[in-house]
Amino acid sequence: MIYTEQHLELQRTVKKFIDTEINPHIDAWERDGIFPAHEVFRKMGKLGLLGINKSEAFGGLGLDYSYQLAFCEAMGEADSGSVPMAVGVQVDMATPALARFGSDELRREFLAPSIQGEYVACIGVSEPGAGSDVANIKIRARRDGADYVINGSKMWITNGTQADWMCMLANTGEGDIHTSKSLICVPLKTKGVSVERKLDKLGMRASDTALLHFDDVRVPQRYRIGEEGRGFVYQMVQFQEERLWGVASTLRWMEKTIDQTIDYTRQRTVFGKPVLENQVVHFKLAELNTKVELLRSLIYRAAELMMRGEDVTLLASMAKLSGGRLARELADSCLQYFGGMGFMNETPISRFFRDSRLISIGGGADEIMLGIIAKHMGIFPGTRRKD
Ligand SMILES: Cc1cc2nc3c(=O)[nH]c(=O)nc-3n(C[C@H](O)[C@H](O)[C@H](O)COP(=O)(O)OP(=O)(O)OC[C@H]3O[C@@H](n4cnc5c(N)ncnc54)[C@H](O)[C@@H]3O)c2cc1C
Repeated sequence: MIYTEQHLELQRTVKKFIDTEINPHIDAWERDGIFPAHEVFRKMGKLGLLGINKSEAFGGLGLDYSYQLAFCEAMGEADSGSVPMAVGVQVDMATPALARFGSDELRREFLAPSIQGEYVACIGVSEPGAGSDVANIKIRARRDGADYVINGSKMWITNGTQADWMCMLANTGEGDIHTSKSLICVPLKTKGVSVERKLDKLGMRASDTALLHFDDVRVPQRYRIGEEGRGFVYQMVQFQEERLWGVASTLRWMEKTIDQTIDYTRQRTVFGKPVLENQVVHFKLAELNTKVELLRSLIYRAAELMMRGEDVTLLASMAKLSGGRLARELADSCLQYFGGMGFMNETPISRFFRDSRLISIGGGADEIMLGIIAKHMGIFPGTRRKD
């Protein structure tokens, strides 16, 4: 996949937006532990950035996934992982299933205002007792007349203190854990919803993350996305866009980190010569740059498959796994070459070190990706190699 002039133009628009509307404020937002999502999303909505590959019928631009990927990569120009992650939740984590399987009425009510940036969305899969083991979530949406009555908790919810609605995975039936769940759009101003705690984090500090509690929360059954009992399957599909967003939005940030390391080590003299002139240093940076390019190729291949309507689970899992590991290697190596300055909060690498650590955990930990890849290789009993 090669970007055209239209893709590059889109990326220039995104970079200009980040340079004027995000990066000048990011240090203050990091200190505040939150960024003003409604304000930022409204501006992005006006530029059409929150519905690039969503249907024009609901206010999107109706472009293919390659443009969404170009947008995602350009979000890596932000000087923090927090805003790209929150935008990713809005466009590629909380809304793909709604866009794909939701009724027109539901898409008018929740998708259209999210594309405009009027609504902030969040995705509610994880719970205090179940993160990796998604099928084991405990929250229940019980049928009562024309409504569901929801009881339970959702944990580590990005945008959780300011979101207007949640795309929630909940148990709506009994029996087989894979066929008894549904995805439901839950407005978070509804009676019985409470933010129990805003969570204090190692990184992604400008993003608000919350523990939410649902106590007899009543929503109409028409807020369910698609068929009852299909929620687990819908979420597994939706996870693929989430995982690709998570790694693709880091590509530019990794490259910028390498560039910053080159600049610093070129001017920092140790034992009479620049740190960069040590072969071990510039060889390592060359190797890291090569690995970023390899990761980009893998992501682009997954994107090609997605545009052909094929299942991208294997490639998205490989990209998520290798991207998380590469970010850790890159953050650790580059920070080391900054020496003491790398350990200082005033140096951007320290934020990259903290923020990028999430890639190997959020949206499915490395071990979950390895399990999926092993299943595709036919390693477990009852599985066979998928070619
Ligand atoms: C900043 C942040 C933002 C987040 N945002 C959201 C959000 O918006 N919405 C949402 O739903 N969730 C969100 N999450 C939750 C995230 O997706 C989970 O943390 C993640 O899926 C891991 O689940 P867990 O934390 O419960 O880890 P656990 O399931 O408790 O696993 C702990 C560790 O055990 C290991 N492990 C797990 N399974 C295996 C295995 N089979 N073999 C070997 N080792 C294994 C892994 O190393 C794993 O990290 C967020 C998390 C963070 C930190």
